[in-house]
Amino acid sequence: MRFLRYGPKGQERPGMLDVAGHVRDLSDHVRDLAGEVLAPERLAQLAALDPNTLPQVDGSPRLGPPVDGIGKILGVGLNYRSHAEETGAEPRAEPLIFSKAITALNGPSDAVMIPRGAAQADWEVELAVVIGRVSRYVEEDRALDHVAGYCVINDVSERSFQRERGGQFVKGKSADTFAPLGPWLVTPDEVPDPQNLALWLNLNGRRRQSASTADMIFPVAFLIAHISQFMTLMPGDVIATGTPAGVGLGCKPPEFLKPGDVMELGVEGLGQQRQEVIAYREGASA
Ligand code: ZN
Repeated sequence: MRFLRYGPKGQERPGMLDVAGHVRDLSDHVRDLAGEVLAPERLAQLAALDPNTLPQVDGSPRLGPPVDGIGKILGVGLNYRSHAEETGAEPRAEPLIFSKAITALNGPSDAVMIPRGAAQADWEVELAVVIGRVSRYVEEDRALDHVAGYCVINDVSERSFQRERGGQFVKGKSADTFAPLGPWLVTPDEVPDPQNLALWLNLNGRRRQSASTADMIFPVAFLIAHISQFMTLMPGDVIATGTPAGVGLGCKPPEFLKPGDVMELGVEGLGQQRQEVIAYREGASA
């Protein structure tokens, strides 16, 4: 099932997509897609509802992040062999984990704003995993039982803040609008193998990233198990699982985002995002 949240920023309502691609409102059944609603068995109950009994939403409303109550967004650095090679990084024994501020969250088609003082804003298509149950010291072979669903994330990054401002990565990953999430939360029954999904990103219509999640160094199940050794993962927490080669920093010479650019990106079976890049504007933040 594809779950989503639609409506103006900050006032999103829960919904799901029917087979014809129409948004169906879930407000009569659930207050929001958050917390214990994200438990796999609870989502299965919602998925079992007959869409024809749910109010159909006219037109194409704005979509927000497909889950609410996100407590943390964690990122994984250099988790694709191709991207690690383009940055010249040494292979790692353990994944590099960083966080992105919650205030960076954005809808999948909302504009991405270059922060004040930035000159190296960059794109990163990624598979995002949304946690569905409280997860601590999870075994790798049970880790996927803890997944509420999958979605697309653009791990937008300001490279100068990330690399030249004394650390940590969080400085370059956290500006407002730097975490477009969605369009949908796709439940695991529709994603039988998260390690076999194509992912891609176009900048201004030109393909820049194209890869498969099969190329991940540390797979989804390993990441959940590994991270849960260091912190408790809660329902709604998001793990951005890393980006493949083709980011602007890897170009020769490097290329970065500028106002007017358009990013389009997707992950197989999880839908697409589209963002226009805009200059910093006072008061325009999320
Ligand atoms: Zn990333």
